[in-house]
Amino acid sequence: MCGIIGYVGKQDAVPIIVDGLKKLEYRGYDSSGIAVHGKDGISVVKQKGRLSALEEQLAKTPLEGSLGIGHTRWATHGEPSDINSHPHIGSQSKIAIVHNGIIENYKQLKNYLEKRGVVFASQTDSEVIAQLAEYYYSGDAIETVIKMTSRLEGSYALGIMCLDDPGTLIATRKDNPLIVGVSDGGHFIASDVPAILKHTNTVHYLEDNEIAVLKAGSVEFFNADKEPLQKTPETITWNPDSAEKGGYPHFMLKEIMEQPKVLRDTLHSAIHSGGNKDVINDLDIARFNKIVITACGSAYNAGVVGKYVFERLCRFPAIEVELASEFRYKDAVIDEKTLVILISQSGETADTIAALREAKAKGAVTLSIVNVVGSTIAKEADCCLFTAAGPEIAVATTKAFSAQLMILYVLAIWFGAKLGKISAEAEQMLFWELENIPSYVEEILAQVDSIQKYAAEYVSCKNTFFIGRNIDYAIALEGSLKLKEISYVHSEAYAGGELKHGPISLVEENTLIVAISNCKSLYGKIMSNVEQVVSRGARVLLIGNCPDAAEDEKLSHISIPGSIDLFSPSVTVAALQLFSYYVAANKGLDIDKPRNLAKSVTVE
Ligand code: GLU
Repeated sequence: MCGIIGYVGKQDAVPIIVDGLKKLEYRGYDSSGIAVHGKDGISVVKQKGRLSALEEQLAKTPLEGSLGIGHTRWATHGEPSDINSHPHIGSQSKIAIVHNGIIENYKQLKNYLEKRGVVFASQTDSEVIAQLAEYYYSGDAIETVIKMTSRLEGSYALGIMCLDDPGTLIATRKDNPLIVGVSDGGHFIASDVPAILKHTNTVHYLEDNEIAVLKAGSVEFFNADKEPLQKTPETITWNPDSAEKGGYPHFMLKEIMEQPKVLRDTLHSAIHSGGNKDVINDLDIARFNKIVITACGSAYNAGVVGKYVFERLCRFPAIEVELASEFRYKDAVIDEKTLVILISQSGETADTIAALREAKAKGAVTLSIVNVVGSTIAKEADCCLFTAAGPEIAVATTKAFSAQLMILYVLAIWFGAKLGKISAEAEQMLFWELENIPSYVEEILAQVDSIQKYAAEYVSCKNTFFIGRNIDYAIALEGSLKLKEISYVHSEAYAGGELKHGPISLVEENTLIVAISNCKSLYGKIMSNVEQVVSRGARVLLIGNCPDAAEDEKLSHISIPGSIDLFSPSVTVAALQLFSYYVAANKGLDIDKPRNLAKSVTVE
């Protein structure tokens, strides 16, 4: 959450920073701002609202300089307002900062500084960083940063500029992501790769407590004792075009449509990349007596699908799925005989990082499924499998979720085979079906017109229940989350059998039931649920492999291809994503940046 970008070089910093902020807007968008170190010292322009509001302000008050920092905010402390926007500058106008994270002891620090005459301008936790840095400023910016950060409790990624140092950009972090990009045209800091991908694909991932000192002609790294560090840069293989909309009205639609390729790439890299296969070969699955899958949001829903698949293919005795925010504080009963699987698109999700550290502290073996190479979870887990989704910009995840499912299927087949629970022929057949998933998804994407028509028909429904049984219930969770997060329609997911235990009391005229049915043996059961809600006035969209649905005039129907119900979530979810997308589009909502949400949840 919150996007940071900084630039130092020979070019005009403002267009570079504004462009970078556009790529980071998915991380927060209640306000934004820029500070530039120019010939008149440090000048700041910041503005509540979307980035377009900042651009209008910059047109009236242009900033000039080739050193600058920018920020797009997702407020945690202090309402979204002009004054609470970043960058924050100390009261002596000597040090400007942008901050991603939360300073947990900001009240104590604020009291401390106020008692010494410092006057605060904002209600944020972040301003304390600029004020404290000014308070400690000794003429040596690195020492100041070391002293200042030693007093901070909480999490931070920081971009810092000093009035006395017109050519230097300083960056540091703890528990929040920050990368340093290097190019002939200048040097960059950023919260995420897409912000600078157009300028460079050579990046250094900053580690906790490291300090980067960027000048137009050099980049140096230091540890918290001011000792120089040698860091090796990584090359990002993402295509810069993948961070652009490519003619689609929204990133979300583009990312939905990219899924067949993402699924092929992810499957290919999981099976053929030596690294991934080595990970699994080294993992003696038989030594574990428990698997815990832990994640947040959609990645958690992927984990629920994973649980069903692991149970079916591995017949493993104990498989649990836990929300990372719960797992981290529950004193989980795990030990060295537990395999903990962590799923996170960004690899920087704060709760999932904490769950990972908790699992490691208890001796469990950790395996992560992550989209961003070089991210904290990728690095800290004992082993990591990468999803090949490329940059995902829309806040509501689509292609990264699908790629996570693909990795979970591959893992389940490998584990099942290693444990002797599936035969060599079954393994081959299952992989063959995985190869078919991208073309099944293409079939769904080709039905975009009829899905759009259903979305228009049901846009007025105020309450929606997604129901399914077994693996269909697992994907109902994701369908429901997708609809509520981007269209603001109240929606819940229930196992079909649970309907009668409460939620059916809410079913009335114009309630929408999205019934998912891919499990052949449970088709009759879910259709009984459908009858029960239709007789109470509900409208029903049936999604699945449903033999006689087309003849039933009471129902709308999206047919799901594929022969193995276990893998049907990957196909069904494409229909669910398109449905949610078009409901939100019909309501004219800001689909890529839904209210109150942000991607890459780096705060608790
Ligand atoms: N805590 C800071 C603020 O509210 C930064 C928030 C964030 O990184 O999400 O301004």
